[in-house]
Amino acid sequence: MMEEKGRENGVAAMKACYRRFDPAAYLQYNYTPPRADFTRKDSIVPWKLACLHRAFTEGDMSGELLVDIGSGPTLYQVMSGCEVFSKVLLTDFLEVNRQELRRWLQDEGQCSLDWTPYLQHVCKLEGRRPSAWTEKAAKLRQVVADILPIDVHCSQPLAPDALPSVGADCLVSCFCLESVSPDLAAFSRALGHIGKLLRPGGHLMLIGALGESYYFAGPGVRIPVVPLNEAQVCTSLKESGYTLIRLEVYTLTQDMRVGVDDVTGVFFVKAKKD
Ligand code: SAM
Repeated sequence: MMEEKGRENGVAAMKACYRRFDPAAYLQYNYTPPRADFTRKDSIVPWKLACLHRAFTEGDMSGELLVDIGSGPTLYQVMSGCEVFSKVLLTDFLEVNRQELRRWLQDEGQCSLDWTPYLQHVCKLEGRRPSAWTEKAAKLRQVVADILPIDVHCSQPLAPDALPSVGADCLVSCFCLESVSPDLAAFSRALGHIGKLLRPGGHLMLIGALGESYYFAGPGVRIPVVPLNEAQVCTSLKESGYTLIRLEVYTLTQDMRVGVDDVTGVFFVKAKKD
């Protein structure tokens, strides 16, 4: 009883931290150069896009529905998957982030970030001419069927009728679970919760921070993070019923440490639900 109360308090404290999440600042800190420098292979964003491109084009994916867990205000994570799956659902806990995504999807202008260089870069990875980015943008707008509220701390993170009863064919989740959980146990529980949204045999692409204890989501908005190592990620995946296909690690160079967090590395996981 006491233990459960402690758990609830930890999760409630994390949710309170997100009240001041500023999508425009978060995008500026993490999704502009040097972290998103498309002229460099050792910049974080091109590394993430290359991992996602490879994972989605290896020929082992099947089905129709891709769900992105904790999308935040970002779209890069579904730019490869939108060519493979005919329906994509974006999700986030915060209305401000869902609004930011809606602005881009409805092509209303006034977005906090220009996603064009991202679309161009993924086109290049796909062997298409960079000018094909307009087609990719149209494709992404066509396949994103909805932007839904989610809470990974609930045993049922989405509304009951949000997905077909068998579950999604593929999940992608980037920098969400470790940055919304008060401790490793909560991270693992959240991984278990989102696993219920995936069909057996479906794939999970998980990207996250290594060794991070906080990040800034706006001026003075300091959000605590569970510092993870690779072994903990692998153990949590195994406990949640996944078979690991691949784990890749990126180590931040000194110039990627721009003072908006204390992350030391990034992991990319491709796994299959047993
Ligand atoms: N996926 C994006 C990316 O790759 O940059 C955003 C990651 S951001 C560090 C963490 C996201 O988790 C935020 O968008 C936040 O609103 C969302 N979040 C916060 N609490 C959550 C919860 N309980 N369940 C699901 N998502 C949550």
